[in-house]
Amino acid sequence: MSEPTVASAGGPMVKAEGIHKYFGRLHVLCGIDLEVTSGEVMCVIGPSGSGKSTFLRCINHLEKIDSGRLWVDGHLVGYRQRGEKLHEMRESEVAAQRRDIGMVFQRFNLFPHMTALENIMEAPVQVKGESKAVVRERAMALLDQVGLSDKISAYPSQLSGGQAQRVAIARALAMEPKLMLFDEPTSALDPELVGDVLDVMRQLAVDGMTMVVVTHEMGFAREVGDSLVFMDGGAIVEQGNPRDVLAEPKHRRTQDFLSKVL
Ligand code: ADP
Ligand code: MG
Repeated sequence: MSEPTVASAGGPMVKAEGIHKYFGRLHVLCGIDLEVTSGEVMCVIGPSGSGKSTFLRCINHLEKIDSGRLWVDGHLVGYRQRGEKLHEMRESEVAAQRRDIGMVFQRFNLFPHMTALENIMEAPVQVKGESKAVVRERAMALLDQVGLSDKISAYPSQLSGGQAQRVAIARALAMEPKLMLFDEPTSALDPELVGDVLDVMRQLAVDGMTMVVVTHEMGFAREVGDSLVFMDGGAIVEQGNPRDVLAEPKHRRTQDFLSKVL
């Protein structure tokens, strides 16, 4: 690749510098600077509409940034300095990078006409062209990892929300991603189903996966997060060790937000 890069090995998995994003006149990301190190679990909190999902979507190429610089795994994703022409990755590079990033949404988006196993096998076989036999074995292991070995042949409609979300996580992992993005993965679940999903994510963190997790689960952020980012109004207001930020938020806006959710 010819674009400027940052060191990949041991370097940041995600590095953002002055990211701005507009939807029409709406200024949604107002200069985001942050770094996610390989192996780090970063939790992102903040009120609705603060730009959390948009930032994740920029990392995963679902949205284009309007200015700033964003590197993912050492590759410059797209940037524009003031007045410059937008530098963009080639489509083939975008596709290659997207394969390395797993994303789990609030709604599980499983293919309804496919079993749990088929859902997990689909992308590695269709997108990566891996052999079915190899992928099947990996998919079975992943179902075991998320505690659903007995649901191999179940269709999404036969799964609880928590089970469906665990299949969605297994499906993302089947692509063997370097980075996992979670956008409020437990927000749509009944309270009693949240724990199993968080347990899977916790184990993933222990196994060393690099993760950015938008969540309202402050317990998870405190116990599993290496860092915590509080966003408000498209900006990072406060960031630090989750224990410190949650126990002693420094900024008024963080204090106000936490007083409402804790
Ligand atoms: P959060 O995830 O923190 O709730 P979002 O990133 O979803 O925030 O949204 C940030 C702001 O951008 C909100 O005001 C939202 O309405 C707006 N927004 C998000 N996506 C779009 C879009 N595709 N088109 C126009 N506005 C959008
Ligand atoms: Mg959101």
